[in-house]
Amino acid sequence: MRVTEGGIELEVPGEQTEGIEESVFYNPRQELNRDLTIATLRAYREREDRAESYLDAMTASGVRGVRAAADGWDVTCCDVDADAVELARANLERNGCGDRARVERRNVSALMHDEPFDVIDLDPYGTPMPFADAAFANCRDLVCVTATDTAPLCGAHFNSGVRSYSAVPRNTDYHPEMGVRTLISALARSAARYDVGVRPLLTHATSHYVRTYLELEHRATSADAAIDELGFLYHCEDCLYREADPGLIADPLESCPHCDGSRILAAGPVWLGPVRDREFVAAVRAEIPDTFGTADKGRELCETLEAELDEPTHYDQHKLCRNWGLPANAMDEFLADLRDAGYAASRAHYGGTTFKTDAGVGEIREATEASLE
Ligand SMILES: [Zn+2]
Repeated sequence: MRVTEGGIELEVPGEQTEGIEESVFYNPRQELNRDLTIATLRAYREREDRAESYLDAMTASGVRGVRAAADGWDVTCCDVDADAVELARANLERNGCGDRARVERRNVSALMHDEPFDVIDLDPYGTPMPFADAAFANCRDLVCVTATDTAPLCGAHFNSGVRSYSAVPRNTDYHPEMGVRTLISALARSAARYDVGVRPLLTHATSHYVRTYLELEHRATSADAAIDELGFLYHCEDCLYREADPGLIADPLESCPHCDGSRILAAGPVWLGPVRDREFVAAVRAEIPDTFGTADKGRELCETLEAELDEPTHYDQHKLCRNWGLPANAMDEFLADLRDAGYAASRAHYGGTTFKTDAGVGEIREATEASLE
């Protein structure tokens, strides 16, 4: 079937049925991810003008590589699968990008160890961690990572999460953010082994994946600074109290300081620092053209990310109110009430009823009750 995306035309195996059928070569649900990738690459080129080469590490249909090549990048597409390599070549030719891109059929970790790239894009099926070391070993500027194994990342598939990410993720009411912070933690620790520090420029958790863009700094002190952003989260399953504890030595709470309950979960090491750079996200938003299929969604996501507070966990207003047996009012009023009570508050990009605040769970309840009176 023929697919058009971001001004390029692709041929992908599969039949045109209702909507667009999902195939191993082309995932239509990731169009937002790919549109934001192109906008991010544009914004990144403004930030670091020597960045020229881009590796599409799991190319499949070649869609990311074709789109980056059409945007002026010096592209390498890699896949171990012979059909994928043939398909990617054909799609590059179809879009007149044959001279700006090459296709390699080989083990991509070997390729990443052999050759430096300015930007590496990892978009595997499932966990990206088996490719992380090779990516950080030689990449110059930016590593972009998609993880689709959200159940392991957020602690819902506990053992798999522990195995893949060398961390203890816990299934909480802020599970997509647990996934985000577990992923960045594992990537930061992989990079640190090469004396490379990571700085998240943009990260989002969208439906069934987490996506992050990490700017690299090749200095041992930068790696140390990244490790300093790691720590633990302690979470009360009864009242949803949570607390962040920086550092690599955990000191879990024995009981909940808010409700005195003992059902405390400890998670970590997770990334506690900011997961995006506000100015950079604004620059990405400005690079999204109207012609992108997900332009409105992408801009809205960027706006939410720009305003989102840096608190390492978010709350879900509906879950809190259900826990308290209280009615939930409109989100904007609710946030205004929190601000009136003297706290910082913002929406979060994790869902329509999610928010961040520097108020604790007891203070949020007080503000909610006061607004109902
Ligand atoms: Zn509690």
